[in-house]
Amino acid sequence: MNTDDGFVVEIDERISVTNDEQQFEAYCSDCSKMTQMATPKTAGVLTEISEREVFRLIEGKEIHFIENNRVLVCVESLRNLRADFNTAPE
Ligand SMILES: [Zn+2]
Repeated sequence: MNTDDGFVVEIDERISVTNDEQQFEAYCSDCSKMTQMATPKTAGVLTEISEREVFRLIEGKEIHFIENNRVLVCVESLRNLRADFNTAPE
């Protein structure tokens, strides 16, 4: 009988940076659908863009965002923009 004990799966826990309380489902009027909205900080983490850059994109109206008592950015628009940043072929 051959038991394979050397098979250990390690789970990478780096993903703990995203806090669920800072992500929302909201209607984006620019996308005309429900999208994932997040605070600039969280959206930046999700898309690997610095928070400062996210704010610059908001000011330049390059990404979708809504403003209630706080600013929420449309993560999808940020992702699309980021895809334009590095159009390296995979
Ligand atoms: Zn949007």
